[in-house]
Amino acid sequence: MKSSARSAPTTRGIKRIDLAYVQLATSESARDINRDVVLEIIRSQQPVSRADLARASGLQPSTVSSIVEQLIAEKWVKEGAIERRPRGRHPTLLALNDGLVILTADIRPKQAIVALLDLNGRFLAREVVPLVSEPESAINKIISCMKAMRADHSNRSFEGVGISMPGRVDSESQSLILAPNLKWGSYNIKGAFEKEMRLQVELTNAANAALLAELWSGRLDGIRNAVLITVSEGVGGAILANGQIVTSRSGLAGEFGHSPIDPTGPLCGCGQHGCWEVFASSNAALRYYAEICPEKASVTIHELLRLAEEGDPAALAALTRQATWLGRGLRLVTAALAPEVILFAGDITTSWARFGPVIQAELEATMLAGDAPQLGITNDGEFARLRGAAAVVLQRHSGYQRSRLKAAKDKTPYSASS
Ligand SMILES: [Zn+2]
Repeated sequence: MKSSARSAPTTRGIKRIDLAYVQLATSESARDINRDVVLEIIRSQQPVSRADLARASGLQPSTVSSIVEQLIAEKWVKEGAIERRPRGRHPTLLALNDGLVILTADIRPKQAIVALLDLNGRFLAREVVPLVSEPESAINKIISCMKAMRADHSNRSFEGVGISMPGRVDSESQSLILAPNLKWGSYNIKGAFEKEMRLQVELTNAANAALLAELWSGRLDGIRNAVLITVSEGVGGAILANGQIVTSRSGLAGEFGHSPIDPTGPLCGCGQHGCWEVFASSNAALRYYAEICPEKASVTIHELLRLAEEGDPAALAALTRQATWLGRGLRLVTAALAPEVILFAGDITTSWARFGPVIQAELEATMLAGDAPQLGITNDGEFARLRGAAAVVLQRHSGYQRSRLKAAKDKTPYSASS
């Protein structure tokens, strides 16, 4: 068996390496894995010395040194402070190079948040750009905002552009496969950004971006099975199964929002009737509110949440109904994947103390067996998608992803007749 599993060090606290992939690894990809292991230890334990890296990774000090030289040459890592010790040598400490930055956009149907982040996930700039529904002008507005940010931070090194989309993106072709609430058709989004920004551009699904941000923050350390549900105009989902983010064919995995709950229900953006999202999205809450107060039908979801905080009975009723449907729909998630944790991101999480327990009660009432999964909300709400979009750009540059994408491309497709 061609295997380099032995060269993948077993370290605690490091993101688990996919063993199915490691069995296919060549010596070249084994080097890539070691590089990523070293980078991950620097990211999570910085500032750190070369000796500490060797200890934490289980790699030979000479291997660590050559990987560190490569990471410094590629500008991922910089040498910084000297560690002061009572006696002996004073090693130079290594940290991620925060001179390296990533432009990101969180695109939604009516607006985009554009932001500049450094390698440590710190926001250097952030701006809201209102969008029109036509893709070309919408993208041009985002691009001008990004160009202005680049001009304001011209002393930094720009690594790429990461874009969170309210829909499913095929990770290989990078085309938008499904986005019922955006309606941008087959417009070449990646091409438009690349042409103007002249940087590497990565598109990713919003829920997957938010899940990746949670993984990078370390909050899911020790959790192998989790599902993240985004609640905004629609309801999206992202899956962590056996320690890996699952995107599956054409990046379409996780569309729980379009599972049918009631075929006689309202029409959904996907063309079917009664999907989970037409009962459980923010738009559903606004519809429930308009049914109770037709004269105040033009409120936004943020206004509705504020009215609920102020004790407005109609707003409370509308959002409680939405939360009830969110909880009921989780049966789809628990029955299919039995996760240890379910995280929510999006509008309703701003009033979590009020509506979280409603979701929890429905979840517990619909369990097939065993305890209900732990329920929670994402770490930094609105900004999880931006951090995740940046993480996708960085991950694409990591050796592990490079090798994995190559392995996926080289693989012969399954044939039923053979
Ligand atoms: Zn649908």
